[in-house]
Amino acid sequence: MGRAAIRGRSALSQEPLMLVRMKRGPKQKPRRERFYERVDRGTGDGCWIWTGAINQRRGGYGYFYDDDTRLRRAHRVAWELEHGPLPEDVALMHTCDNPACVRVSHLVPGDQAANLADMRQKGRGFVPPPERGTERYNATLTDDVVRRLRRAYDSGKPIAPLARELGVRQSTAQRAATRQSWKHVTD
Ligand SMILES: [Zn+2]
Repeated sequence: MGRAAIRGRSALSQEPLMLVRMKRGPKQKPRRERFYERVDRGTGDGCWIWTGAINQRRGGYGYFYDDDTRLRRAHRVAWELEHGPLPEDVALMHTCDNPACVRVSHLVPGDQAANLADMRQKGRGFVPPPERGTERYNATLTDDVVRRLRRAYDSGKPIAPLARELGVRQSTAQRAATRQSWKHVTD
């Protein structure tokens, strides 16, 4: 194959790019943008609260009108925006026990959630059971998780399995464990 053939092919390959550009019109905002307009991200590693519709009668979950106009639980949409489609039969649990939270690092799907619950029951994990009844149980719970995380980390447990147990990113666990975040939490 000579030079002319190669040059010819590269000229052709530019055409589809131009077509794609022309097809994009000033239509609806992207799904992600519409979603995160309704999220209060707060500060630090705390919960990201859904500021759109909340159904208090059905567990206090946030709801979002998806692109196909279906009304869907907001935390599931948050997960899908990061990780792709989540089958309807896979449960998505909050590690922060805050149903209005849509922070992906606070969400654990299916089997992982079952494992967490199992560990709590058997007392093997360091994740405490939800402390319901106190006025701000979410804040108490997350502060407490950070303390337990630090104790486990300081006693020599590697960060990767700790992050997995909590269902948070490794960098999130690392920063909390090394006191770069959650500085207000004293040991
Ligand atoms: Zn949360």
